[in-house]
Amino acid sequence: MDKDIIPELLKSIDEKFKNDNAKSAVIKSVVKKLKSGMATYEDVNKLAIEIGTNSSKAINEFVTADVLPDGKMYFNISDRLMNHTLKNNYDVVSGYAEDVQKQLNEKANLHLKAQIPNFNQEKVKGIVERLTNAEKFDDINWILNEPLVTFTQSIVDDSIQKNVEFQSKTGLKPKITRRLIGNACDWCKNLAGTYSYKEAPNDIYRRHERCRCIVSYDPGDGRKQNVWTKEWVDPKKIEAIEKRKTLNLKKK
Ligand SMILES: [Zn+2]
Repeated sequence: MDKDIIPELLKSIDEKFKNDNAKSAVIKSVVKKLKSGMATYEDVNKLAIEIGTNSSKAINEFVTADVLPDGKMYFNISDRLMNHTLKNNYDVVSGYAEDVQKQLNEKANLHLKAQIPNFNQEKVKGIVERLTNAEKFDDINWILNEPLVTFTQSIVDDSIQKNVEFQSKTGLKPKITRRLIGNACDWCKNLAGTYSYKEAPNDIYRRHERCRCIVSYDPGDGRKQNVWTKEWVDPKKIEAIEKRKTLNLKKK
């Protein structure tokens, strides 16, 4: 390869991505909702779909077979391209989710810290490998469409999961809701419903491509349940206990 095409590509992609986001009515509306203190996980979900779609559009505009060496997506291009763009999506969506979670906690009178999920490196690795394994980029470029939206939606699901798990450890009984959107498949129909943390099906946070189901929760529900009989547990204590658990696991 003569020339490293990645810096120029990323610059063009970022520019289009930023411009499209700045013009987006969806983003304007969810930002407004957050400012008014009314945002929920449904809004985080809307933002994720919009961010995923805009990043996919930006990538598709500039990443084409004719700019790639031998019309192939080599690992070192695929790896940097995906890690850069998906990390951007992660930063935007997890940041917004954190703000929403903070507001929800405050409204429910919970003095709990909003939990932020990790950037899912495993999922990114999966996308990178699929792009790299194809003989020709044109055989695999569909990966840069819906799968990027699905990845971005999973940031919302991961945010919910992390906060629900954390809150349930403090003695709260968070309820998770999975709602169908449009013509849902049987698999999704099976998952729809409202569950307590313990009853929730294993697949509650999973989704197939083009799945627009909305997973959400509101910590406010956890308190109305009248299960609030235990003494308030200091979240710092729980964090310390969790840390100890992980340390023990590491020792084994
Ligand atoms: Zn679905």
